[in-house]
Amino acid sequence: MVAFKSCPRCHGDLLISRKIEDVSCLQCGYELKPAERETLLARINQRARRLPVAA
Ligand SMILES: [Zn+2]
Repeated sequence: MVAFKSCPRCHGDLLISRKIEDVSCLQCGYELKPAERETLLARINQRARRLPVAA
């Protein structure tokens, strides 16, 4: 999964591994700290919940 423009350092795209233990930036290689990762994942989950449920 990729989180676009979510890198705290360069606003690049973050690559989230399937296990979600490892989130790093595709542009600058920055690895998110645990706290930053939590914030990102919370935001992603929030966005997913806001999507309309398919009928
Ligand atoms: Zn970056």
